[in-house]
Amino acid sequence: MTEEFLFGTVTRAVGGGLYEVDIEDDEDPSPRVCEIRGVLKKGRQTTTQPVVVGDRVKVRERESTGANVKGIYLREGFIEEVLPRRSTLSRGRIGKTSQITLANLDQAVIVMAVREPDLNTHRLDRFLVLAESNELKSLICFNKIDLMKKRELKKEIAPIKELYEKLGYPVVLAAADEDVGVPEVQAHLKDHISAVLGSSGVGKSSLVNAVQPGLHLWVGEVMDIGKGRHTTTDVSLHPLDFGGYLADTPGVKTVVLFEQQEINLDQCFPEFRPFLHECRFNNCTHDHEPKCAVRAAVEAGAITQARYDSYVKMLRDIQAGVRLRDW
Ligand code: GDP
Ligand code: ZN
Repeated sequence: MTEEFLFGTVTRAVGGGLYEVDIEDDEDPSPRVCEIRGVLKKGRQTTTQPVVVGDRVKVRERESTGANVKGIYLREGFIEEVLPRRSTLSRGRIGKTSQITLANLDQAVIVMAVREPDLNTHRLDRFLVLAESNELKSLICFNKIDLMKKRELKKEIAPIKELYEKLGYPVVLAAADEDVGVPEVQAHLKDHISAVLGSSGVGKSSLVNAVQPGLHLWVGEVMDIGKGRHTTTDVSLHPLDFGGYLADTPGVKTVVLFEQQEINLDQCFPEFRPFLHECRFNNCTHDHEPKCAVRAAVEAGAITQARYDSYVKMLRDIQAGVRLRDW
C-alpha cells in the first residue's frame, strides 16, 4: 500500500472532530472532509482545540469506501499533523487553556469609504491599532472614489494616502462597484489569509464580491462584537481563485479583537517606535510627562498631529476602561 501525504489548509470545522481541508495543488477544488487523528486530540495540552481553522495540515488520504460514515460527511482523509502556527487569535481563556479560533491570519484589509460615509482617519487609526496589536499586516482600501471629483481626490485623499504609505501601510484607491482598484487588492490578498474590516456601508461586501465574484462573506460592523450570537466554530476560510484565503465570520472583527485584554498602544504606532526609548520615563504615556520624545517628535514634525491626537483619544479610552471590543 502506498501512502502519500497531502498538505492543505483547514477551512472549516464541521463538528465531531471533522474538518474541511483545502488541499494544495488539488485538481478537485472542493475541500475534503478529514478526521483528526486520535494522537492529535491528546497531543496538545495547551489548547482546547488541537486543530483550528487556518491551520496548515498534513493529510493522509483515506481510501474511499463509498459509505457515508458519519452523518452526511464522508471522511476523505486523516489529519496527521498540524504544522507550526505562525499566529493564533484566541477567544478568551477557559481555565488555563486558551481557546484558539483562527490560526495564521496575517493580514487585515481595512476598508474605508472616501464618501458616504466621509473618510474618518481616526476610525482608520483604530483599525490599524487593532491590526498592529495582533501583529497583522494591514492593507488600507479607500473605496467609493467614484463619488469624488478628481480634484477633490487629489486635494483631500492623496495626502492621506501618502501619509499612511509613509507609515508602511499600502493604500489602494478603489471603487468596488466599478471594478476600480480590484486587481491591486487581489495582488495584496494573494497567498495571504486576510480578514476584511470596516464599518458598515463602506463597501466591504461589494469589494469582496468584486475581488472574487460570487463570494459573499458576512462582513459586519466592527462594533457589534461580542453580542454572543455566534460561536467560535463559525469561523471559516474562503479560498481565493488566485491564491490565499478570506476569513469569514460575523466576528472577523470579533476574532481580530476577541477579548483582547492588553494592548501596548504606543507600540501600535509604527512612527512612534523610534522614539519610545528616548522618553525620560520608561513608562511614559506620551501624554503629559516632561521630556517626552514622542511629543518632541510631534513638535518637530516627525509625527503628525492627527496621528498623535488619535493616539491620545485611544489612550483616554483605555484609561477610562473602555474595552477594545467596544471601540
Ligand atoms: P458593507 O456594509 O461594508 O458590506 O457595504 P456594501 O458593500 O453593502 O455597500 C454599501 C453601499 O455602498 C451599497 O449601496 C453599495 O452599492 C455601495 N458601494 C459599494 N462600493 C461602492 C463604490 O465603490 N462606489 C459607490 N458609489 N458605491 C459603492
Ligand atoms: Zn513619551
